[in-house]
Amino acid sequence: MEILILFGAPFSGKGTQGKILALKTGFMHVSTGDILRDERKNHTELGLLAETYIRQGHLVPDELLEEMIESVIEKCKKEKGIILDGYPRTINQAVTLQMLAQKHGVAIRKVLFLDVPQDELIARGIHRSQDSDRIDDKDPNIMNKRIEIYRRDTKPVGDYYINKKLSVTISGIGEIEEVAERILASI
Ligand code: ADP
Repeated sequence: MEILILFGAPFSGKGTQGKILALKTGFMHVSTGDILRDERKNHTELGLLAETYIRQGHLVPDELLEEMIESVIEKCKKEKGIILDGYPRTINQAVTLQMLAQKHGVAIRKVLFLDVPQDELIARGIHRSQDSDRIDDKDPNIMNKRIEIYRRDTKPVGDYYINKKLSVTISGIGEIEEVAERILASI
């Protein structure tokens, strides 16, 4: 099993592209945001705890996600691979993932950085808020907060993988299919 990390800002299109890439590669699409939303729907302890952070546009604390990621890796061991969407989002999470990958004998094959300029992110965010039922997509202040936290806490993770020579940058601008083709060509 190998891991492809789909990396990018909120509203960069990771979810959409993750699903397409999963269909085209046969890898499993694993979105930590989706898992947390499912936990909330099922009223689990993790779901309820995570909700307080998500609602404010904050990141869920690293320690709450570690067990979740390890169980994903264990469950997917027999898969060809996974497309990890939304993790890691902090340097600490990147270090945890490295440790877990080693522990379970899986490789991080590549980090696909979906590059979308800030003004386009904001435009997409506004558009998405119109038909989203997500608790963190309703308030423009919360959406801006998510972009701000991305720049502060998550962007350095991109540099971490550039240093490890694992990262490829893909322009996330254009039609969905066009972007999907670019991603496919880069893996
Ligand atoms: P987006 O990519 O649009 O920000 P996601 O669905 O990936 O949305 O994530 C929604 C929210 O779930 C995040 O804003 C954050 O609060 C929480 N979350 C998801 N993944 C992580 C993670 N790896 N670390 C901390 N919080 C996370």
